[in-house]
Amino acid sequence: MLLKCDLVVLNRSAPGMESRKCHSTFMLGKEKKKDKHEVFFTIYSAKSKSGTKYKVHDNILKVHNRFAREGKCTLSMKTPPHDLAISKADVNALKKFLHVLKLVFNKEEISNISELENILKVKKCDIEKPKVKMQVLSRKEYPLKNGFPSTLETLIINGCVLQRLDARILKLSALTILDLSENKLKTLPECLDGLKSLRCLNLSNNDFDCFPCCLLRSETADRIHILEMNFNKISYLPNNIVRLKNLHTLKIKDNHLVSIPHSFGNMKSLQRLELTNNMLQCLPWSFLKLKFDFLDISGNAFGEMNVGLLDEKYHKELPVPSTLFEICCRKIIQTDTKSKDLQRLPTLLKDILRSPKYCPCGMPCVNEGIPYVFSYDVSRLTHAMSYSMERDHLKILNYLCSMKCYQSYCKDPVLFQRRGFLKRK
Ligand SMILES: [Zn+2]
Repeated sequence: MLLKCDLVVLNRSAPGMESRKCHSTFMLGKEKKKDKHEVFFTIYSAKSKSGTKYKVHDNILKVHNRFAREGKCTLSMKTPPHDLAISKADVNALKKFLHVLKLVFNKEEISNISELENILKVKKCDIEKPKVKMQVLSRKEYPLKNGFPSTLETLIINGCVLQRLDARILKLSALTILDLSENKLKTLPECLDGLKSLRCLNLSNNDFDCFPCCLLRSETADRIHILEMNFNKISYLPNNIVRLKNLHTLKIKDNHLVSIPHSFGNMKSLQRLELTNNMLQCLPWSFLKLKFDFLDISGNAFGEMNVGLLDEKYHKELPVPSTLFEICCRKIIQTDTKSKDLQRLPTLLKDILRSPKYCPCGMPCVNEGIPYVFSYDVSRLTHAMSYSMERDHLKILNYLCSMKCYQSYCKDPVLFQRRGFLKRK
């Protein structure tokens, strides 16, 4: 049986002379000597291609296996007096390896230990350091036959005219960076749960016309820190984009975005945002809750939006709020949205309750509210900015919760808005 790991060899007879850590492969097996089988393991590495052989029977002083669950363990051998410090081993493979050593240690009949095969020479590919980075820059280089090494941590596939994501990529559990820019992708598979380590995803320069919702499934959403979707055709971001709660960087330059969801301000981890060259006329009020390390919102249509009420006629004739649903939602949000009772509600309703808009008076609005626009000095949102708007203020869309707030707003919009800011701070 084989065990691949990182290994440091400590020679107890020459303290302080430990070997450098190197990727090694243990080959554990049996060998016939005279009429008896004996158990050995041989350690192969790039430096020691012919391998160093250790006897197992009556030759292990101690096995330090407290950290076997983390893929670590140390074997103290009698002769030569070496401590073999194993790390980065596959946890299951290490457990199996230690189990067999224990059977041998307990003097189990060797022929009964099914895992022990005759010692063979290991293949070259078993000794080589596992491949962690792969770059495919043309269709010719695409590994159609061989697939992708399961050890990959970075995979870059650019300019390959990919229309679908290869199912073999979805099994790469060690992958942290996946760059699929400059392809022809329109969608992603429904489930990316197999990409257990994914942190950075680059989907720039593809054919996405809507945001890939598979990224918002619970496990995947928690993992992603950096998402790039520049140069696509996306016009809306979903309201539940807030599920990307660890997202630090979001780049959606040169798309067709016409609005940003009201819940956007709940993306508390967001530090770097690029919304350059879209069709945004205003941003939601919650946007002002964010503080960026870097922000680029140039190349949008903020100048086209007027400050003031969006539609004056409409709201004079209708009471706000007007539905029982709206009144109930407002009450629940004001009481407690983290309550355990709410966990049982349908996801859609939970998302609605978690992303209200807020009137300057502090009242949450869900589906109803009287929309109005005010301007805001964008430099207050960030200290580093690539910002080429002509000193124009940013346009922010917000909602008035009731006819009472509507009347106060109409009397003096600036004062009403300012009071709201003081209250919300
Ligand atoms: Zn109000």
